[in-house]
Amino acid sequence: METDSISSVCPVCHQPILPQYYFCPNCGTKLNETPLSTTVVTQVWIYAFSIILPMIAFIFVTRWPGVKYFKSKDPKAKQIGQIAWALIILSTVITIWLAVVWTQNYIKKTVDSINADLSSYGI
Ligand SMILES: [Zn+2]
Repeated sequence: METDSISSVCPVCHQPILPQYYFCPNCGTKLNETPLSTTVVTQVWIYAFSIILPMIAFIFVTRWPGVKYFKSKDPKAKQIGQIAWALIILSTVITIWLAVVWTQNYIKKTVDSINADLSSYGI
């Protein structure tokens, strides 16, 4: 048995890991905080997004006609409102699903590249 003073194990799957791993190569559990990107491009993107997001929410709340149509007593207008609601729910579900899939792929790619980097250093 090797001493566990240097090597450690994943807290979730108990596979041996190295202290410099960001993610467990076996189960993908986050082990260390990944450094955040602070490049100019990232900053511009974050700031632009921070400005635009509330505007989109404002436009949605004030301009989206779905609520008005949904509350209408005219059956034809009400149906339009119902379809608009169904589309917005469907679109939201698809967007969340895409975000989850993208995030999972991104984490997997990050784990693979980090572990490839580490093994290329002979660690
Ligand atoms: Zn693990």
